[in-house]
Amino acid sequence: MKVLKFGGTSVGSAKRIEHVADLISAPLERNIVVLSAMSGTTNSLVEISEYLYKGNVPGAQETINALQAKYTATLSELFPDGESRSAADAAVGRSFALLRSYCTSPLTASGEKEILAQGELMSTAIMQTLLTRRGIRTALLPALDYMRTLASGEPDMDYISSHLRRLIELEPEADIFITQGYICRNDHGGVDNLKRGGSDYTASIIGAVLDADEIQIWTDIDGMHNNDPRYVEGTRPVRRLHFEEAAELAYFGAKILHPSCVLPAKLHNIPVRLLNTMEPEAPGTLICNAAPDGTIKAIAAKDGITAIKIKSGRMLLAYGFLHKVFETFENHRTSIDMIATSEVGVTLTIDNDSRLAAIVDDLKHFGTVTVDTDMVIICIVGDLEWHNCGFETRVLEALADIPVRMISFGGSNYNISVVVQACDKVKALRALSAKLFQ
Ligand code: ADP
Ligand code: ASP
Ligand code: MG
Repeated sequence: MKVLKFGGTSVGSAKRIEHVADLISAPLERNIVVLSAMSGTTNSLVEISEYLYKGNVPGAQETINALQAKYTATLSELFPDGESRSAADAAVGRSFALLRSYCTSPLTASGEKEILAQGELMSTAIMQTLLTRRGIRTALLPALDYMRTLASGEPDMDYISSHLRRLIELEPEADIFITQGYICRNDHGGVDNLKRGGSDYTASIIGAVLDADEIQIWTDIDGMHNNDPRYVEGTRPVRRLHFEEAAELAYFGAKILHPSCVLPAKLHNIPVRLLNTMEPEAPGTLICNAAPDGTIKAIAAKDGITAIKIKSGRMLLAYGFLHKVFETFENHRTSIDMIATSEVGVTLTIDNDSRLAAIVDDLKHFGTVTVDTDMVIICIVGDLEWHNCGFETRVLEALADIPVRMISFGGSNYNISVVVQACDKVKALRALSAKLFQ
């Protein structure tokens, strides 16, 4: 059994939904299909919530109307009339009725989560109706009945495994299973989600708990490219990546994969394949425990980075200094991405600056603090085991004309990271591609 996840663009229009239906109904296996919301939907739902939080009901209503018009047009194209049309209309109508019900009172956090869940609920209802019309025995596995997180925010794997297995056992006749990505319940049983882009995570969690043969992430590009195709021309797909390499790339900005998605697959040793819905024959990228050695595979960039330097005259021979610095970040529940140390100071980077002012205030007890905002981490990923000579030199040569704020290598065998100003990001990505891949 495989888990196949289709992202927003893959189900972004009536034509694409039909195409996904063709792809998933071909295999004879009883696969599990995870669907995202149609592209743009979750963004619209976020916008509706923002309007409602601000008390701008007409703003919310306008966005709801525009979104509903898009869904009505999609349904008209998919199901011109008949029983299927009524079934799809009813399901989508329920979601829009719920959205409108939130326009009558101030929005709460739990209301917002319910709103954000509607995109995936509508996609799966539409796909189920379409497959049923084609005569395929389709079982819907409601994510809200099995996908659950713990108080820590981590998935409750035992709960998910037992509930999902039970739901599957209830459907012995089904040819195919459909479920919602992204949405879940939290430890209080309230509707919640796995964060933006979280449908990949859903697929990986399902693959792990069911010990699937493979997890396939179907998207709008033929696999993980060796640089960010949104900024660099002539990028190429990487055929094979080690789980660790994929994790570094996803965490450091390769949008094709949600950063949390790699771990469950890696722990259960389930291969992840990245495939292109628009070009299903393309080989894509295989992520597993074996990948070519001794090569640089890809480059990614993570935006919104802040670098914080703490300089202390007393760091020399002073044990406990780094402990106090790290403790400060821990107290403010802010995770650190990168670190560079010297005898007189340390620089750390963070991507969540919501507690920045308080962190800086506390750090002033230990030294002089300087902050650089609008930075990016550029991450060069591959099998970079330290006995291999020359990788670092080529990376730094590529960046010869760009001011580099920080460098990190040796934390793992898989990455060299550098911090540059946001305004130099595209130049740095292009220079690295030219040096490393041409
Ligand atoms: P989906 O909606 O299917 O989840 P995403 O938009 O989340 O798709 O991810 C696919 C997009 O990721 C691609 O269209 C591409 O622009 C972007 N992307 C960023 N970095 C990379 C990379 N290194 N390789 C491939 N795609 C990348
Ligand atoms: N629909 C959600 C989002 O846009 C989840 C996903 O697509 O993975 O973030
Ligand atoms: Mg995605």
